[in-house]
Amino acid sequence: MLTVKIRTTAFALLASLMLVGATPPDGCGKCKDEGVLLCSKHKKAQGEAERGSVYCSEIADCEKCSGVGWIDCAKCVHADAERRLSEQRDAVGKARRRLAWIEKEAGRPVRVAESEHFVLAWDVESYRAGGKKRKGHELVHFYLDRLEAMFAEYLGVLEASPEDFVGKPAILVWGDLEDHKRVSEALFEIEDDGAVKQMGAKGRVSLLGGKPSYEDDEWLHHGIVHEVTHVLASMQKPVAWVGETQSGWLDAGWAHWFEDHMFGVCENVCYQAHYFREQIDREDWRGYVKKLVTKDDVPDVPTVLAQNTETMPIEFHAVAFSFVDFLLSKGGDRFNTFFKLVRRRTPTRDALFDLYQLSIDEFEQEWRAWVKKTY
Ligand SMILES: [Zn+2]
Ligand SMILES: [Zn+2]
Ligand SMILES: [Zn+2]
Ligand SMILES: [Zn+2]
Repeated sequence: MLTVKIRTTAFALLASLMLVGATPPDGCGKCKDEGVLLCSKHKKAQGEAERGSVYCSEIADCEKCSGVGWIDCAKCVHADAERRLSEQRDAVGKARRRLAWIEKEAGRPVRVAESEHFVLAWDVESYRAGGKKRKGHELVHFYLDRLEAMFAEYLGVLEASPEDFVGKPAILVWGDLEDHKRVSEALFEIEDDGAVKQMGAKGRVSLLGGKPSYEDDEWLHHGIVHEVTHVLASMQKPVAWVGETQSGWLDAGWAHWFEDHMFGVCENVCYQAHYFREQIDREDWRGYVKKLVTKDDVPDVPTVLAQNTETMPIEFHAVAFSFVDFLLSKGGDRFNTFFKLVRRRTPTRDALFDLYQLSIDEFEQEWRAWVKKTY
C-alpha cells in the first residue's frame, strides 16, 4: 500500500494527466504541484514528520485531515494525490484498530506511530536525542526514522527485500520502569528490568527508554538496534527464532555483528551473559577473539554451534560474533541463504556444507586462519 507513496513525481504527474478531465497540476502555487497541503491544525514540522508515517496517535483524532496530516489542495485537481490521500485515510483507521492492543495492555493512552516497516510506542516525554532535547511527538518520528535507516542497512547487508518479512516489529519504549515491567509481564510473561522481546511472526520488544537501562540516547539507539536485529531475523521468512533451536550462536552473533556494523561497538549482550560483558572491551571484540585463537583458548566449536542463546556464556557470544563476521566476509546473499536454511531447521553442519562446502572441522580451521590474518 505504501509503495504508492514513493512513486516518482514524474510518474505521478503523468498518471494524473492521463486521467480524463483532470486539470494538470502544473503551476499550482498553492501546493507546489503536490496536490496536498499541510493540515492547518498541526505545526509545520509536525506535519512534515507525518510524511513517512502510516499512523500517528498524536494527530489521529484530527477531524480536518482524518489523521493523515495533509489535506487535498482545493486550488487544483491532482487525481493521484487525491487517491493517495484517500488510501492514507483508510490506512489510519485500520492502523488504529490494529494497534489498539498497546493501549489495552498499558491501560491508558500511549503515543504510538507506525512507519512503513515498524510500529513504535514512545512513552518517554522528553529526551536528549541526536544532540538536542526533543519532546515525545518529535521523538517518536525521530526514532522511527532511525529504525527505517537501520532496516535499509539490514536489507543492504543481506541483499534481502522488504517482502521477506512477515509484519512489522513493534517496539515499546517506556518512560517508567513499572510500565515496562507490567506490560512485558502481561505480553511476554517475563518480568525483567532489561529489554524483553517476543520473537517470530508477532515480533515485539519492550524496554525502558532511559536510565538505568540505557545511559543516554547513544546507548538507547544501540540497544534498540541490537534488540530489533534479533526480532527482524526471527520475522524473516521462513519465520523462526533460531536462538531456541540450538543455533543461538547465529541469533546472538548476527545481532552483535549488526550492532558493531552500525556503531563500531558490541555493547548489548542478551540474557545472563549480559552480566559479564565488561570482561571484553566493547570496542574490541575482534581483538579478544584473536587472543583466544592465538593462545589456542577457543571454546569447543561444535559446542558453541549447538547452544540456545539463553545458555551461551560471554566468550561464546564473542566467538559467535566472529563466526558471523567470517561467514559475511564471503558475501551477504550467501549468508542470508544460510540463515534461511538454519531457520528451516537444517542442521548447522548441513547448512555449512551446502552453502560454504565446509565440514565443521574445515569451518573451524578456515575461521582460525582468517581470524589470525584479518584481526
Ligand atoms: Zn494545488
Ligand atoms: Zn506524528
Ligand atoms: Zn489534521
Ligand atoms: Zn542479543
